[in-house]
Amino acid sequence: MALMITDECINCDVCEPECPNGAISAGEEIYIIDPNLCTECVGHYDEPQCQQVCPVDCIPLDPEREESREQLMEKYHVITAA
Ligand code: SF4
Ligand code: SF4
Repeated sequence: MALMITDECINCDVCEPECPNGAISAGEEIYIIDPNLCTECVGHYDEPQCQQVCPVDCIPLDPEREESREQLMEKYHVITAA
């Protein structure tokens, strides 16, 4: 599953530089994650890096973006090949 940022986000900008896939950016009101670029950090790290650093714990899994570990790894290969 890709992760998502909820409206609890305080726009602290801590997560954006931690994403190995460049999936996080400042949106109009809060930070956003591009689900096409989020691999749950699979391929790079054991844990989602954005979740580790978010001070308000507002980055859950997106239940509408269910993906297996194999699919996430495939996404990782596509992103890194691009
Ligand atoms: S889980 Fe990893 S890949 Fe996904 S947005 Fe967070 S830091 Fe980026
Ligand atoms: S670390 Fe959390 S609060 Fe800070 S910008 Fe990212 S999602 Fe928002």
